[in-house]
Amino acid sequence: MSDTATPPPFTGPTSVPPEIDAFLRGADEAHAAQQAAPAAPRPSWEPLGPPSSMPQPPPPPEFQPYQPDPYEAQSIADAPVGANQVPVSDEPRMPAAPDLSIELPRGVYDATRRVFLTKGYVRELDGEDEEALAKLRTPAEWFDGVVALGIARMGDIDFNQLSFEQAKSLTGTLLPGEDMMVYLKVVTATFGPDRDIKYQCQNARCGREIETTLHIPTDFPVVLPEGDYLPTYDFPSSKGRITYRLVTSADEAALLAQSTETTTSAEMTSAALVKSIIAVNGLPPQDPESFVRSLSIRDRQALLEVIASRQPKIDMSLSIECVCGFHNRFLLALPELFRP
Ligand SMILES: [Zn+2]
Repeated sequence: MSDTATPPPFTGPTSVPPEIDAFLRGADEAHAAQQAAPAAPRPSWEPLGPPSSMPQPPPPPEFQPYQPDPYEAQSIADAPVGANQVPVSDEPRMPAAPDLSIELPRGVYDATRRVFLTKGYVRELDGEDEEALAKLRTPAEWFDGVVALGIARMGDIDFNQLSFEQAKSLTGTLLPGEDMMVYLKVVTATFGPDRDIKYQCQNARCGREIETTLHIPTDFPVVLPEGDYLPTYDFPSSKGRITYRLVTSADEAALLAQSTETTTSAEMTSAALVKSIIAVNGLPPQDPESFVRSLSIRDRQALLEVIASRQPKIDMSLSIECVCGFHNRFLLALPELFRP
């Protein structure tokens, strides 16, 4: 890998800043407190998906089985058959092709057909992708770029036929936990499933260097929330019934982009709620910013928690025991996995 393609220096353990991380932390009590949602009248603008009162969207077009060929370029069948070679046509290809299929809990949203596409394939990133990624400026853009470039297909949408911007607008509809699932799958497809990592023991009297091997497909289990994903949900607040949608990866990117060093977590909360809330008592709020500021702290926190509780979660922390007996807990920086 050339120097230009080295992921930009990473300042945090994940692409998520502490404010948003706090925002994404789940709360089961608030979740449990939420009542079964009555059907919402359709807001005057397009929310992310059809409100529940609308007729169900047509079922997604039949899923076309897609057979990705990660070894296409090798043209094994065209290779000359030498004295020590056997014809390869009936031989299994070695090494075994990695499993590139991915199934997401909610999926990519196709706005034209109003469907979520959950099943698809990732692909191995190549030199062209490496050059494209090297042009991205921030760690967050780089992460979103890996996700957008790494998807080969979702449902019947062939991402290879899309521009980078088109792919990004589709992957922007993923939930933040889902883009992490895609990222882990893409780095596995590109560099293989295992990573040797080194850390220093945090026990001040030890300080040994610990070496361990991560197996990406099994070391980062995903915890899925209960229940089906809906386009919108209702939340009973002291100001009436709030209809909201889940915060997406694109929302998160926008929140990050507009935040500065002086942005407080309360301002971050307001900005996130403005994106999430689409109606109050069935009508879009006249002034979303002042509405979220007028909500009680209790309602704001409860709503944020219930939104977070619906996100798939991946624990990116590592627990490693040193020979000195000390249990180390590390947070893995995402670019740490973007290498062989
Ligand atoms: Zn130690």
